[in-house]
Amino acid sequence: MPDTALPPTIPTAPVTPAILESLRAIVGDKGLIADDQGKQPFVTDWRGSIVGNAAVVVRPANVEEVSKVVKLCHDNGIAIVPQAGNTGLMGGATPWPSHTGIVLSVGRMNKVLNVDPVGYSMTVEAGCVLQTLQETAASHDRFFPLFLGAQGSCMIGGNLSTNAGGVQVLRYGNARNLVMGLEVVLPNGDIWNGLRALKKDNTGYDLKHLFMGAEGTLGIITKAVLKLWPAAKDVATAWLAIRDPQAAIEILSEAHGASEDNVGSCELMSRTCTDMVLRNIPGTQDPLKADTEWFLLLEWTSARPKAEGAEGMAEKMEQFLADQMEAGRVIDAVIAQSEAQARNMWVIRESVAPASRAEGPGLSYDISVSISKVPEFIERGLKAALDILPSIRPYPLGHIGDGNIHFSFMGPKGMDRETLKQYSPAITRAVNDLVTSLDGSISAEHGIGIDKLDELSHYRSRIELDTMRTIKRALDPKNIMNPGKVLRI
Ligand SMILES: Cc1cc2nc3c(=O)[nH]c(=O)nc-3n(C[C@H](O)[C@H](O)[C@H](O)COP(=O)(O)OP(=O)(O)OC[C@H]3O[C@@H](n4cnc5c(N)ncnc54)[C@H](O)[C@@H]3O)c2cc1C
Repeated sequence: MPDTALPPTIPTAPVTPAILESLRAIVGDKGLIADDQGKQPFVTDWRGSIVGNAAVVVRPANVEEVSKVVKLCHDNGIAIVPQAGNTGLMGGATPWPSHTGIVLSVGRMNKVLNVDPVGYSMTVEAGCVLQTLQETAASHDRFFPLFLGAQGSCMIGGNLSTNAGGVQVLRYGNARNLVMGLEVVLPNGDIWNGLRALKKDNTGYDLKHLFMGAEGTLGIITKAVLKLWPAAKDVATAWLAIRDPQAAIEILSEAHGASEDNVGSCELMSRTCTDMVLRNIPGTQDPLKADTEWFLLLEWTSARPKAEGAEGMAEKMEQFLADQMEAGRVIDAVIAQSEAQARNMWVIRESVAPASRAEGPGLSYDISVSISKVPEFIERGLKAALDILPSIRPYPLGHIGDGNIHFSFMGPKGMDRETLKQYSPAITRAVNDLVTSLDGSISAEHGIGIDKLDELSHYRSRIELDTMRTIKRALDPKNIMNPGKVLRI
């Protein structure tokens, strides 16, 4: 839970009436939101747990306008919070309550500029909604492999700035692996044009990687050249009741070969997590009524269409699941027989975050360890949390193929947010100490934002923190670009 009571030092230069008029001259009336009601969704984070402040929300229509707005802010020492879809879960896109500057939303910059199906790339503006990009790629018989629960509203600028993960990382890598080039407005307003559709480019430091995962602290991503892949032609999706997390990693390990390297996704769900979704999300159906604490959502995809009479993904998977049952890892399983059945499985997986919101206050840790250590982490982590608060209700899940567990808890029945908050520091310390002792990461895919500011400085070495601060100070000496996020400067 964020500690907004102890904000870092951030620039407090005000947006004066004269500066407001200069902003209006750059972006026009359409690009400014200054009334409290209009600003509300831009200063409140997705979870509703942080409500910040901003003098005005600025919505430029193109990179030239972004550049002029940033230059104006730079010259006047005004802090900027870049924002895309505002679905981030660490408070990175939400201004601090003490913020006196602007929110710069890229939502109006939402054009697909070019699709090159032969070269397997597309060039897009930062405000394109992720799902639109998936659909655009599909309409050219191509695949853009970034999939996550918020895809209907998150935007590619935010995805790249958080180096988002999701359910295809196992095969295609994180967001940063899906990018060939970027255009970025630097904190002084300069435009860096690195929009190169190149697979190979060893010309000094690879600057694009500085901005991806920087959570808007080093500049504003305005365009990107994204990589595409062939569209899937043969898909098998299955819901498996499994013995335990150890069985999960063994199943995945065997699945790579059995699928001929076609594992697309492998998602671990606890029984408590599945039940929470079924309870809160209308229309979802339990794919398999099995007596177990653990499930796997396994998907194999091939770009090769199934030939008449030949074995396809489903047949290969059927044989594989039979072998895994024989080995005692799988208790029961169902392969989706229709798109609707596959969709139901995915809706269960993708609805965990909205379902948890409906359950009331909770705690969640987005951690990673090496895949083989996942079972040990889950067992020891559950014990550590339950030792501190025995009535807390765990619902772990995760992208197990990435060693990434969303180690999540509903508060004890009837416990209010403030009371739960009192237990949060002890549980956080126990979980993150355990992660660190297993050589893992305290933030696998959601980033640092406001929420993990202090955790990052606790767990990262002085050398790492100093190197990050050196980069930040070099690019943003006035500390105007998303100040007080990721690092305390
Ligand atoms: C239901 C749900 C499911 C989710 N599932 C996943 C998941 O599986 N994997 C995962 O990784 N995340 C997940 N998330 C978290 C979130 O969706 C991702 O972090 C997403 O990438 C954020 O995109 P956004 O457009 O909403 O960015 P925002 O929330 O607007 O911004 C995120 C960060 O990027 C910065 N930023 C935004 N745009 C720019 C820009 N153009 N230039 C520079 N900085 C910018 C912001 O300042 C902020 O620090 C989930 C969230 C929800 C609500």
